[in-house]
Amino acid sequence: MAEQLNKVFIDVAVDEPAAGDAALAAKLEEVCPVNIFKGTPSGVEIVEENLDECVLCRLCIEAAPAGTVHVKKLYDGSELT
Ligand code: SF4
Repeated sequence: MAEQLNKVFIDVAVDEPAAGDAALAAKLEEVCPVNIFKGTPSGVEIVEENLDECVLCRLCIEAAPAGTVHVKKLYDGSELT
């Protein structure tokens, strides 16, 4: 099986302390249509193998406190706001 490349087009980050908020993590897991966020009791984990599936829908940005979720378009250096 060929090695899979992740984070080629998209990277996603959640700032602290929001990243450690279990309720927010659960909400992010629920809203993202391509399962980039995993909610855990200690906060949000980014599911790296799904990053490039991001459809730039902004649902994660709208679900989180302003400025805490960053969806970076690695192919043009900009960030979804
Ligand atoms: S923009 Fe949409 S698809 Fe991309 S990480 Fe956020 S919720 Fe998921």
